Amino acid sequence: MTPKVRVRFAPSPTGPLHMGGVRTAFFNYLFAKQHGGDFILRIEDTDSKRFVKGAEDYIMDALAWCGIRFDEGIREGGKYGPYRQSERKDIYLKYAMQLVENKHAYYAFDTPDELEEMRKRLEDEKSSVRQYNALTRGYMKNAYTLPESDVKARVEAGEAYVIRFAMPENEVVTMHDMIRGEISVNTNDLDDKVIFKSADGLPTYHLANIVDDHLMDISHVIRGEEWLPSLPLHVLLYRAFGWTDTMPEFAHLPLLLKPDGKGKLSKRDGDRLGFPVFPLAWTDPETGEKSSGYRESGYLPEAFVNMLALLGWSPGTEQEIFSTDELIQAFDMENISKAGAKFSADKAKWFNQQYLKVCEDGKLAEMFKPILLQNNIEINDDYLIKVIPHIKERIVLLTDFWEQAAFFFKTPVEYNQASLNKHWKADTTQTLLNLAERLNNIPENEFTAHHTEEVAKEFITQNNLGMGKVFNPLRLVLTGTGGGPHLFDIVELIGKSETILRIKQVRGL
Ligand code: GLU
Repeated sequence: MTPKVRVRFAPSPTGPLHMGGVRTAFFNYLFAKQHGGDFILRIEDTDSKRFVKGAEDYIMDALAWCGIRFDEGIREGGKYGPYRQSERKDIYLKYAMQLVENKHAYYAFDTPDELEEMRKRLEDEKSSVRQYNALTRGYMKNAYTLPESDVKARVEAGEAYVIRFAMPENEVVTMHDMIRGEISVNTNDLDDKVIFKSADGLPTYHLANIVDDHLMDISHVIRGEEWLPSLPLHVLLYRAFGWTDTMPEFAHLPLLLKPDGKGKLSKRDGDRLGFPVFPLAWTDPETGEKSSGYRESGYLPEAFVNMLALLGWSPGTEQEIFSTDELIQAFDMENISKAGAKFSADKAKWFNQQYLKVCEDGKLAEMFKPILLQNNIEINDDYLIKVIPHIKERIVLLTDFWEQAAFFFKTPVEYNQASLNKHWKADTTQTLLNLAERLNNIPENEFTAHHTEEVAKEFITQNNLGMGKVFNPLRLVLTGTGGGPHLFDIVELIGKSETILRIKQVRGL
């Protein structure tokens, strides 16, 4: 029987979650849901030096905004908990000791200075080996060079130590990756990684990660390509523990690249080119530095994750718009590319626009309300819902709403100068005032787009005026900007008294 699919997202709370991390979480989620499996959040916080306050909540809030839900985790609970490694502290030493006893790991007492000396010496010797491993450990202060009784005495006396994994000498390790196929590495190119430190009584990432994946019955490890170099050590750790039968399968996702394809997409690229790299805005608790987020920049979460899904994965067809449910059906590891995926800010906007066009009016209304309140506009639900169809095709980001729709809610107080110069002639003011009089004769209940347009056109014909000569300045006085949807839709929506008021304002021009 194949084991139940159980996958995990295992971030370290070292800062806000990069959009590459969101994609990793999303692919895990899609994979879990497709196989009727479980998706687990595990917080890997054993490196206390890199811990950042607020990062853990940020990660959970960001994924919740994206609609990526966990079956087990910090907020969800679950029977494999605790899900924060700092709360699993007592578990790891036992496993480190198991490896020491089986001679797969050993105590080492080298001070930072001694390690630095080693590095220098190997550099001076122009040695081809630069690591702490089978070829060099014989020169260092550890259980290979010190008598057993001495090692014991040092540990008992409370001397600082680390436990290092004993990388076998000159062995070819062959691994399998679901995306990359078979990969082989010679262990002489690897080092005896520290797996436990007495200083804080905590395991390092490698040990905690393998022990927890094992104890949590993880079936597949899907993570970023930056972890591929750790794979040989991880495979050897499974072997050293005797857990190869239940070792998960591994998949390393391609990197997200800068728009020009040159290197990994970083926060600095976002700052430089003006797009967010984080799902939610973030303020660094130490420096106060602010970073923008997709949410605050006016993106819909559905559009954001759809865009991410197509970075590194393709359905093998031309289809680009996928709901999360459709992605759960269509997603497959075979169509994940090995090459890095270039991020495009324009494409991100394009996705958002497609989603806004088809977003339900009621849902958009809820999203626009806070923007109206910020602009001191009293909310009128019926009116708002009528306005939305006229602007939703015109905006790319939710944050464009006010710029595109302010005139529906506020009498313009100033006019676009370029349009004024272009459309305002000596007789324009009088023409518009005459038109206002005509419109004023229309009874309130007949003040529709259709009827007001008819009356205006009649007025133009009777006075031998050109359409543009009247409609362009009329648009300007109604909107202040000269842009916007169909002119008489605006007239109908803002209503009779407001239309007349806005036209009469031109007396001052
Ligand atoms: N804690 C690691 C990270 O921050 C997890 C890597 C993994 O998934 O194994 O990305």
